[in-house]
Amino acid sequence: MIYLDNAATTKPSKEALQSFNQVSETLFYNTASIHTGGRESARLLEAARGQILKELGMINHSLIFTSGATESNNIILRGMIERKLKFGKTVLVSELEHPSVVNVIEQYKDQINLKFIKTTQQGVVDLDDLKAKLDDDVILVSIMALNNIIGSVQPIEEIGRILKYYNKVYFHVDATQAVGKVKLNYSDVDALTLSAHKFYGVKGAGALIVKDMNVIDAILLGGGHEKGKRSGTVNLPAIVAMAKALRISNENLEEKNDRLEKLNDLVREHFNTYKKMKIQKKHSPYFINLSFVGAKGEIVVNALSELGLYVSTTSACTSKSNELNETLFAIGNRADVIEGSIRISFSQSTASEDVNALIKGLDTVYNQLGDILHEV
Ligand code: PLP
Repeated sequence: MIYLDNAATTKPSKEALQSFNQVSETLFYNTASIHTGGRESARLLEAARGQILKELGMINHSLIFTSGATESNNIILRGMIERKLKFGKTVLVSELEHPSVVNVIEQYKDQINLKFIKTTQQGVVDLDDLKAKLDDDVILVSIMALNNIIGSVQPIEEIGRILKYYNKVYFHVDATQAVGKVKLNYSDVDALTLSAHKFYGVKGAGALIVKDMNVIDAILLGGGHEKGKRSGTVNLPAIVAMAKALRISNENLEEKNDRLEKLNDLVREHFNTYKKMKIQKKHSPYFINLSFVGAKGEIVVNALSELGLYVSTTSACTSKSNELNETLFAIGNRADVIEGSIRISFSQSTASEDVNALIKGLDTVYNQLGDILHEV
């Protein structure tokens, strides 16, 4: 099997698993326990917290550990909307956001004024549209750092600079897909979310990073872990593994990304002249989004799966709904292009043999589909 669905989840690295097992065996204690084992575990927890903040260039921020990005997004978005409603009603989000952002905000649709910031044809937030929509009523702006469908990197630093002039506005960034793939400057971000399993950590660990800890309103109440902001026994093995995974994925990142860029180009060059296939523009080297025009993405994904190639439809999270993918729609694709699209997502260990097999597999399916396909 060749796994090319790394935007859905990655295989944990050997090093991350080693940390996970080691901590599970030797420091399995509750970090809130007062005995020596508990205190040692708490020290390790603080070391992991510090390492993650340092890796992300956010040492002046604070971090609470969560189960993943969905939980982090829920905590911060619910909390901020409820807190800020007395100051204004407008919430701005990009058209590219993940359901764990949009679905939370939409729960408040009767109380807020939700506006979507337009996307350019390049797949990035239109800054002119953002500026045009910014007024005294805006309380919250939420933008993802790297899009999970086409891999476009959003101008987070620039948005942070623009929002600095709006005191009332809270700036949240969903960096779930960016962490471990691209290093961005998050210094002006008020809150950032991430999930360990997207960068070779284990599932069940994530983080919410904030400028000001006081603004977090706990959703999970209980024994007071994480300074009372997220109760529940801390998943120390997964957290230590997350810190390790992040350090390793960030190591020599430019070289790793250059290598993936070449592999990504191989696929694009091979299919460049295929008239019944549309390949979305390249953004992050980890992503290729392409359409078998006229077919259903699901059929293509299943056919590739039969050949031992695991890819996904537009995204694992939206692939069960019948709606057209928002990102592909926002950048101006036709319905038949969106319906026939698949997402191929590389990892840092994707090898050239994997890519050769992918090209062969895509060719096989393209030929099998024959007359079902039509020109773009
Ligand atoms: N945000 C983005 C951009 C994602 O791609 C995902 C997962 O695909 C999530 C949030 C949710 O992450 P998790 O399922 O780890 O909570």
